[in-house]
Amino acid sequence: MSVERQPAFETLAIHAGNQPDPSTGARVTPIYQTTAYVFDNAEHAASLFNLEAFGNIYTRIMNPTQAALEERVAALEGGTAALAVASGHAAQLMAFHTLLEPGDEFVAGKQLYGGSINQFNHAFKKFDWHVNWADSTDPESFQRAITPKTKAIFIESIANPGGVIVDIQAISTIAKNAGVPLIVDNTLASPYLCRPKEHGADIIVHSMTKFLGGHGNSIGGVIVDCGTFDWMASGRYPTLSEPCESYHGMVLGETFGNFAFAIATRVLALRDLGAAISPMNSFLIMTGIETLSLRMERHCENALAVAKWLEARPEVEWVNYAGLPSNRFNPLVAKICPKGAGAVFTFGLKGGYDAGVKLVSKVNLFSHLANIGDVRSLIIHPASTTHRQLTAEQRAAAGAGDDVVRLSVGLENKDDIIADLEQALTAST
Ligand SMILES: *Cc1c(COP(=O)(O)O)cnc(C)c1O
Repeated sequence: MSVERQPAFETLAIHAGNQPDPSTGARVTPIYQTTAYVFDNAEHAASLFNLEAFGNIYTRIMNPTQAALEERVAALEGGTAALAVASGHAAQLMAFHTLLEPGDEFVAGKQLYGGSINQFNHAFKKFDWHVNWADSTDPESFQRAITPKTKAIFIESIANPGGVIVDIQAISTIAKNAGVPLIVDNTLASPYLCRPKEHGADIIVHSMTKFLGGHGNSIGGVIVDCGTFDWMASGRYPTLSEPCESYHGMVLGETFGNFAFAIATRVLALRDLGAAISPMNSFLIMTGIETLSLRMERHCENALAVAKWLEARPEVEWVNYAGLPSNRFNPLVAKICPKGAGAVFTFGLKGGYDAGVKLVSKVNLFSHLANIGDVRSLIIHPASTTHRQLTAEQRAAAGAGDDVVRLSVGLENKDDIIADLEQALTAST
């Protein structure tokens, strides 16, 4: 008897969630472009609506192409289940919708994607959910920010745009002591570089728009249930531990055990908030994931080459790439993301705000736009774009001061990438 072999990451990225289509033999999971699904009979329909049987009802809640994508991401992150939704922001909104009641609080590291800072500070306030900010470089600051109303901690594994590597394990210890789940946004690392569950995360979210999809062609988000948090023992999360009115008093945490968070988020948050992912976007992102390992390796190799080159340029004041031995976060790379520090990083121009605005207008190969994680190299000056809604103080705290330029280094030949930066730096000074 041979022991069953556990497939490696690269193999799962291609095969998890996919079998030949049962009705046509199609090798690639098709785009199931349908709104609804015929019930076998009235009893079958009733059992689906009662959550007594798993199956498709309506594409706002689930779809077979989406389901294949979810199984693949759950396998890559080592989670019990996943829920794919319309965008990274929808993933954050829905994860919190399952966890928080009006008046509740959560603690978040202030080094976050600018859109997440806006979402937490403004949109969430309308739900009467309140964020307390901590410093992702100082795990103790999370301890200090916790109050009796704290229901979750939220961090990024590699924090956008400053390239901060976060000590997930240290913050997870604080979350465990406080009895709250740790949510990790793993967008910049992707599961190829970092598996937050191995460092103590309970819930993982991604903007699949970025490295998972990888080709700059579709918006999507995903929530991964790590299956590690005991909702029934905690009793502080009524959506999971109390009878659910809209499912005849079913207690979701009891019925669904270690994947109850993923189920609750699908059958309540997604059902009622409605931010479903399209079958087409599920298909494109799933195809992107098949080459994730290869892409991330080359992204990291190119990013390191560009960062080293920039460090030696006279126009450049500093380069903040954790992959550089000189970087303050370099020791954490070995612990959190040993295969590489990702492809998104910032550098500072001696010429400040004006030099940043000029540089983005002089590049040719780089695209000046608000995205990351594309096969194409991308550039942005956060102070004049993504972070302009924030105050100067918030911008500086988020690693997006006036002199800061952010790159997302793509998969073009690295000499071509460097040559484009060289001509643009020369032309803008
Ligand atoms: C882009 C991004 C988001 C938001 O995702 P969308 O798909 O644009 O909604 C959240 N977190 C991080 C780290 C991101 O880069």
